[in-house]
Amino acid sequence: MNIIMLGAPGAGKGTQAEFISDRYNIPQISTGNIIREALSNGSEIGKEAKSYIESGALVPDSVVIEMVRQRLRQDDTKNGFILDGFPRTVPQAKALEDMGVAIDKVIDIEVADEIILERLSGRRTCSSCGATFHISNNPSSKGNLCDKCGAELTIRKDDKPETIAQRLRVYHEQTEPLKDFYEKHGALQIIDGKLSIEKATSAIMEALEA
Ligand code: AMP
Repeated sequence: MNIIMLGAPGAGKGTQAEFISDRYNIPQISTGNIIREALSNGSEIGKEAKSYIESGALVPDSVVIEMVRQRLRQDDTKNGFILDGFPRTVPQAKALEDMGVAIDKVIDIEVADEIILERLSGRRTCSSCGATFHISNNPSSKGNLCDKCGAELTIRKDDKPETIAQRLRVYHEQTEPLKDFYEKHGALQIIDGKLSIEKATSAIMEALEA
């Protein structure tokens, strides 16, 4: 099963992608996590991406497309994968088609901007494994430490209020047109992102198994 998760930043793509990944035993490929890892390793891609990610802009298509092309060549994607945060522009979606990758389902989690603001400002991210929590909706049982690996939870630089507004603008301008793109392909499934995490997971599983 080859799956794409669509939705604004903070809609819950990463959280739900983790559940799908466990359930179907297929890798979650988060371009945001790959870029943040490159940033902390100080690699060339990380240096190139730094100013974009920190200002809430998108990293250039050419960089991200190449990153995904290489990731999809790895063996663990043979039985399927979940793309979390890619494609984010129409040229990225076209590049994915040009790679000859067949997409089975596109899950679009829809959430109003006001809720996104509240979610992102309360989001905490593990500095080591990238797992995400929310101070009230989805807290770690270990307080300010990650439930999964025990590392410290931090506020992402791009989860600051002024950057959140910019990321939402970018989402509406550049990523939202993908809904039309995938609706035409007949693969789009819309999920109400206001639902609790558990209810959204059930709705997604139902959509995937339909
Ligand atoms: P995310 O963790 O998915 O919210 O991504 C964080 C940031 O990484 C975004 O605001 C972009 O700067 C960059 N990024 C992640 N995925 C992409 C993508 N597909 N295209 C361009 N930039 C991306």
